[in-house]
Amino acid sequence: MLTRSALIYLSRHEGLKDFAAHFTLFKKLTTRFVAGETIEEAIAAIKELNAEGCSASFDHLNESVGSPAEADAEVDEYLHILERIDETGINSNVSIKLSQFGLGLDPELAYRNARTVVADAARRGNFVRVDMEGSDFTQSTIDIFKRLRAEFGLNDVGIVLQSYLRRTYADAQDMVEIPARIRICKGAYNEPPEVAFPDKKDTDENYIRVMQLLLSSGIYHGIATHDPKMIDATIDYANRQGIGKEAFEFQMLYGVRRDLQRQLAKDGYNMRIYVPYGKHWYPYFMRRLAERPANIWFVMKNIFKG
Ligand SMILES: Cc1cc2nc3c(=O)[nH]c(=O)nc-3n(C[C@H](O)[C@H](O)[C@H](O)COP(=O)(O)OP(=O)(O)OC[C@H]3O[C@@H](n4cnc5c(N)ncnc54)[C@H](O)[C@@H]3O)c2cc1C
Repeated sequence: MLTRSALIYLSRHEGLKDFAAHFTLFKKLTTRFVAGETIEEAIAAIKELNAEGCSASFDHLNESVGSPAEADAEVDEYLHILERIDETGINSNVSIKLSQFGLGLDPELAYRNARTVVADAARRGNFVRVDMEGSDFTQSTIDIFKRLRAEFGLNDVGIVLQSYLRRTYADAQDMVEIPARIRICKGAYNEPPEVAFPDKKDTDENYIRVMQLLLSSGIYHGIATHDPKMIDATIDYANRQGIGKEAFEFQMLYGVRRDLQRQLAKDGYNMRIYVPYGKHWYPYFMRRLAERPANIWFVMKNIFKG
């Protein structure tokens, strides 16, 4: 049986990333979690989500780019996304990864590239969420985010924190002081016990502590999870504190717990769906399998259905 850490290890295999992008049979596997290969396919998916009362966050799949030219191409892609959001009138912001903009090559390059995208989003009245990656990048991502936030507004750029990291509660306190908009999630990478809780119970407890801190801050944050226990704890806390449904949003991934997405939207909660698209789906897709290895059987069934 493939374990979570084996699947995450495979997700980081650069050779497989390029191999998978060209292998058409694999593409069929991904349709559940990836909206397509092009911006237009993602727009079509977002229109359906909008019709169900959900907003979206666009994600162009690519991470750990290998050259400044590849990072430049990612900037161009995001400028095009922002333009298409305006042209089509869909309800969506964008999510970026700093490694996609060259963080692994040169932090200054990643900052400049992210700045170009945030400036364009701010000009258009849109919002950029900086995703959080593996712990090698936590501090540099926070540093770049703080520079961006110093230059742009609260509603122009936000960041992600991961509850499996031991440092996250302190980071959340710091971010709330700035103030900054946070997406809290559990975290999707393989991390050593020095930096992350090895026990899921501790990650969940930390998630609830951070969620409470965020909700009480009066800032509009994103509560990203498919875990009914985390969702119930959020609703319960908000009700007890008299925090209205408009004061925060739930966030989920495209294709995961669609039933729950629709239900929360129907119940009047703000519900945002993270919609990934693009050729470099491999690492993202493998992390989704790692979260729920039962999904392997789900995608196998899809191949044989033809
Ligand atoms: C909008 C959004 C943005 C995210 N951004 C980041 C980021 O920037 N950085 C980062 O490290 N991580 C990110 N993640 C991933 C996150 O860290 C978790 O890996 C992921 O959400 C699974 O955790 P969970 O809270 O859903 O709870 P879990 O405890 O993993 O799962 C709880 C239950 O949810 C359901 N479920 C969870 N995952 C799946 C799945 N893949 N398929 C089917 N059912 C599933 C199952 O019923 C499971 O029992 C993001 C997640 C979301 C929703």
